[in-house]
Amino acid sequence: MSDRGDFSIKFWGVRGSIACPGPETVRYGGNTTCLEIRCGGYPLVIDGGTGLRLLGSQLAKERPGRIDLFFTHTHFDHVVGVPFFQPAYLKDMTVHFWAGHLPEGQTLKHVLHDMMMAPLFPVPLHYFEDCEYHDFRPGQEIILGPGIRITSAPLNHPNGACGYRIEYGGKSICVVTDTEHVPNTPDENVLNLIRGADLMVYDSMFTDEEFPRFTGWGHSTWQEALRLADAADVKRAVVFHHDPNHDDAFMDQIARKASQRRPGTVIAQELMVLRP
Ligand SMILES: [Zn+2]
Ligand SMILES: [Zn+2]
Repeated sequence: MSDRGDFSIKFWGVRGSIACPGPETVRYGGNTTCLEIRCGGYPLVIDGGTGLRLLGSQLAKERPGRIDLFFTHTHFDHVVGVPFFQPAYLKDMTVHFWAGHLPEGQTLKHVLHDMMMAPLFPVPLHYFEDCEYHDFRPGQEIILGPGIRITSAPLNHPNGACGYRIEYGGKSICVVTDTEHVPNTPDENVLNLIRGADLMVYDSMFTDEEFPRFTGWGHSTWQEALRLADAADVKRAVVFHHDPNHDDAFMDQIARKASQRRPGTVIAQELMVLRP
């Protein structure tokens, strides 16, 4: 069992689009999206970007018996770590994969199967041991024992995405990525999902200044994260899914501005642990 027996979130990958290791990004981190949420020792994972590999090594040592991995969606930056997730190959632990963004007629198992198929990848999906695949509709409540409640909402992203709210022990953590906002029109689906949350992790790929050049790319801004947090009474906002082109110096600038604008705002950094 983890020493983090309470409710907490650890950031194994904080980048969007593509991994960007290097001296310019070493402080905030270069791995793509992967979050570990612990509910009293019970391990939940959100997304399987490149950050999933190291988390997998840790879980393989720990042997928790069951792991639930929820995808916000299946774009490459959120699934590319899955073939390198050690627990999926181990017989004595069950990995449950979940997705709520796929349209009728598509399944998560097929998407992962096709990603790990020749000539793209040498080890096919059927090498995985004791894995289960679940497709659900956003909005559907999922209860995982003991006392873990997961709700979700559809996001505004090409090919769909699903935002999550995880509640445990009277506290809540929301993960809202990837999503594009409409200027001056807060997304009702997002507002309803995050209302009153203790912690909200939000797609802040761009700044408001950059945003007009990227309409239709499916991403949002750190300023929108703070506007939504204000509108929905979120206690703490976490700026997340950083643009690979935003180096540490640039992220420091965002950190300064964001904490002036809304004290307590956190800029996600690799291996950071937060508690709601
Ligand atoms: Zn992404
Ligand atoms: Zn995406």
